[in-house]
Amino acid sequence: MRLVLLGAPGSGKGTQAARLKTELGVPHISTGDMLRAAVAAGTPMGLKAKAVMDAGQLVSDDILLGMLEDRLTQDDAKAGFILDGYPRNLAQADALDHLLERIVQPLDAVVKLKVPSEVIIGRCEIRFKAEHRKDDDPEVVRKRLAIYAEQTAPVADFYAKRGKLQIVDGVGELDEVTARVKRALEKESAAANG
Ligand code: AMP
Repeated sequence: MRLVLLGAPGSGKGTQAARLKTELGVPHISTGDMLRAAVAAGTPMGLKAKAVMDAGQLVSDDILLGMLEDRLTQDDAKAGFILDGYPRNLAQADALDHLLERIVQPLDAVVKLKVPSEVIIGRCEIRFKAEHRKDDDPEVVRKRLAIYAEQTAPVADFYAKRGKLQIVDGVGELDEVTARVKRALEKESAAANG
């Protein structure tokens, strides 16, 4: 299963991907986690990305694409993957298309978790208190949501036009949301198998 999870910051992509990876038997690839690991390790790329991330802005497309290509060509991703946090804009969606074509790993499904902004803001506040992520500061969350609306929301339309997008209600108990995503994936694979 090669799956892209879309959704605003705080929509639950990471949480759901972590649950689905065991069931689907594929790695959870989060570009945000990879960048945070690079920041924590103090790599040159991490040092470059840190200020951008703390401000809630997007890290450059070139850095992301190189990082993603390295990750998607590792052995464990041959069985498939759950991609979380990428693509974040149309240029990245296009780059992902080309990359997957080149490595002959076409996407099976794109699922968007739909969560209203007021719920997102509440969730990020809770995460800010628990994890102290600078980009969960309420001020920064507002900026991230604006960037999401402007740059990332069109990515859903990009996949919808190809009949690839499934929209799932991301509000509710974790188990219930996971069950909804699984139902969407079953629908997708039934459609693909005719
Ligand atoms: P996330 O954990 O997915 O919310 O990502 C945290 C931060 O990492 C984002 O606010 C961006 O600064 C950066 N980031 C993660 N994925 C991407 C991406 N695909 N393109 C650009 N920046 C990204």
